[in-house]
Amino acid sequence: MSELLATETTPLADSRRRNASLRGDLDGSRPVAVCRVCGDSYVKYRPWQNYCSPKCRKAAWLDSKKTEVPSDLRATLNRIESKLDKIIELNGGTK
Ligand SMILES: [Zn+2]
Repeated sequence: MSELLATETTPLADSRRRNASLRGDLDGSRPVAVCRVCGDSYVKYRPWQNYCSPKCRKAAWLDSKKTEVPSDLRATLNRIESKLDKIIELNGGTK
């Protein structure tokens, strides 16, 4: 038992396990796309997801808006965004 635990914690076993799970995601049922900002491939958890992370999504959004967005509009967007996330969570749509 203790021998098994020792094997599990070696860096090699750990990286092998991580690679296996990554491969499972990439050729699994979930679609894989390329982030428009950083170019990394990522697993699409939501149909409308175009970026690997909220950080990249925000960066792309800010980049596309050369003009200043009114703060009240930004607040509304943030509110809608968090509501959407909650709805998705309630429907079990989280990663
Ligand atoms: Zn990205």
